[in-house]
Parts: sequence; C-alpha cells; structure tokens
Amino acid sequence: MEVALVGIGKIAIDQHVPAIAASPDWTLAATVSRHGSVGGVDAYRDFDTMLARRPDIRVVSLCLPPVPRYAYAAAALKAGRHVMLEKPPGATLAECHALEGLARGTRLSLYATWHSREAARVGAAKAWLAGKGIKRLTVTWREDVRRWHPGQDWVWEPGGLGVFDPGINALSIVTEILSDAIHLTGADLSFPENRQTPIAADLAFFHPGGAEVTARFDWRQEGDQTWTIEAVTDRGSLMLLDGGARLIIDGAEARGAEDNPLSGEYPRLYAKMARLVENGGIDMDLRPMVHVADAFTLGRRVTVAPFHW
Ligand code: NAP
Repeated sequence: MEVALVGIGKIAIDQHVPAIAASPDWTLAATVSRHGSVGGVDAYRDFDTMLARRPDIRVVSLCLPPVPRYAYAAAALKAGRHVMLEKPPGATLAECHALEGLARGTRLSLYATWHSREAARVGAAKAWLAGKGIKRLTVTWREDVRRWHPGQDWVWEPGGLGVFDPGINALSIVTEILSDAIHLTGADLSFPENRQTPIAADLAFFHPGGAEVTARFDWRQEGDQTWTIEAVTDRGSLMLLDGGARLIIDGAEARGAEDNPLSGEYPRLYAKMARLVENGGIDMDLRPMVHVADAFTLGRRVTVAPFHW
C-alpha cells in the first residue's frame, strides 16, 4: 500500500522512514514537508497539492507536532484518505473527537498511535498483571529535554505539552497494562518562568481497587535516563524498565520471546495500520490524553527557574 509521510523531521527520519522501508505492507510514495524530504521519494511542500496530484495514495501518516496536526488530518479524511496520527493524536480532545466523527462518517480508517505500547515487554507486563490485586503503581519518567528535543521550541508553546510529551508515553503504557480505569485526582506542574508548558509534573490517580497510583515526570535529568513503571501487587512485584523494553518480575529479569514477532515499536505500528485499513477499522484510544488534559485542568502551578536550551 502506498503511504505519504507528512512532516519530515526528527521522528519521521529516525523511525517512520526505516519502518516503512522494512515493511512488506507499505511503500513510501510521497513526502510533504516545507523543508524536509527523503531521497528518491516524490516530495511536496504543500499538502493540498499532494492530495490533488496523488489520488493513488490512500493513506497519510502525520508526523507533525500536535498543534498543526488537526488541519492536515481533517483535510486528508475529507479527501478520502486513511490517516495515521503520531502521538499525541491532536492538540485537544475535542479535535480528536471531531476527527473520529469525520472518519466514521466517511468510513475511513483512523489510528491514534501510541508507540510506547509497542515496546517489547508491555504485552508481557499486561499479561502478568491480569487478575492480580494492585497495591501500588509508580511511574518515574526522567529524561533530558536537551538530549531528546534539541532546539524544538514547539514543546514549550501552548499545545506542545512540555514534559507530558514523553510523559504521555508512560500514560499510554499504564492505560494499556492496567485492567481498571483510573482517573487523575491531583497534580503539581512545574513551569519554567519563561515557558508556557511544564518541565516537570507530579500526578496522583484514583484507582477503584484502592491502589496508590502516582507518576513523576521530569525533563531536567542529566546523565542516566529513567523510564520506569513499578507495580506492587498482592502476588509479587513488577518493574518495566527502559520505557517497556525490559521486564523484571520479583527482582529477576523476565526474558522471553518478544510479544510480537515484528521487532521494533514503529514496524508494529505500521503493521497495525495495515490491518486497520484492510478491515476498515478505527483505533482512537484517547485515555492517555484524557489524563494529560485533566492534569492541566486540575494541576497546581509551581513556577521554577527559567529554561534556556
Ligand atoms: P519536529 O522534528 O520538530 O517536527 C516534525 C516536522 O513537522 C518538522 O520537521 C516540520 O517539517 C513539521 N512542522 C513543524 N511545525 C509545523 C507547523 N507549524 N506546520 C506544519 N509543519 C510543521 O518534531 P518530531 O520530534 O519529529 O515530533 C513530531 C511528533 O512526533 C510529535 O507529536 C512528537 O510527540 C512525536 N514523537 C517524537 C519523538 C522524538 O523522539 N522526537 C518520538 C516519538 C514521537 P517542515 O518544516 O519541513 O514542514
């Protein structure tokens, strides 16, 4: 199937282009980007021009930052194209609901991808937790924004999410592996005094079984980076390390075949998109984004030192 990639920046080059190249399902048929392109691939600067000139391309994958994404997604759906969305699926929940309405009305596929859910050991963690009584779940996501988002000013602008840009990855895993629905009850959000989005966040959630569920996200972590989810249950404990790549059960590494024969998060996302298009499906799980929106609604603002790159 032919796919057009829109927004040729960091994640498009790092992950989407290699995943498409390695996939038996997909051919990269065009790119749309004001500055970027991919060697040997039909390149457009303007999205409407690509839509008009390439009616053969049935699928569009959007790798733009969240704020400009809705206009592209809506235009693609209105032009009869299936759409795959980078995370987070939009800048607001309402625009994501609107996109889903458009896709349903036009019988097109729409996929809100959550790449961290495709990390190697997330499925095994979910299976191990099933049926156990959770007492405590602790998320620690500490990374260095200068290392992972060098010079990307959009993360500090309204809609750019700040530390929730990586934090929403943790929430996508938590909402996947927990069988119970949780909801946010409180948050402390640390905003650099010269920026519009938080550099750190502490979150607390209600869990219907009474478990203590908390998350700490921090973008000021130099040196070792931490992407860990720890769960203590009535029958042992679990740690997901390295963003879901490693699983420790009761202190011992739980090795095993990867949950999916395809290796890598983005190859799995593209395989899922191929099945969605084949079957006419829509996958718009917005739960990770609900928690982030709730944190902005309920969060206490703490002003911290200014941030400069
Ligand atoms: P990026 O490199 O800053 O931006 C991607 C491309 O989007 C840019 O190169 C730019 O291409 C285009 N773009 C930026 N602002 C635009 C605007 N206002 N209107 C139209 N096009 C615009 O960002 P990224 O790191 O790839 O992240 C993109 C998305 O992927 C985000 O939602 C992010 O959360 C997600 N993601 C990123 C990573 C990562 O490691 N960076 C990992 C997983 C997911 P042109 O200037 O050429 O048009």
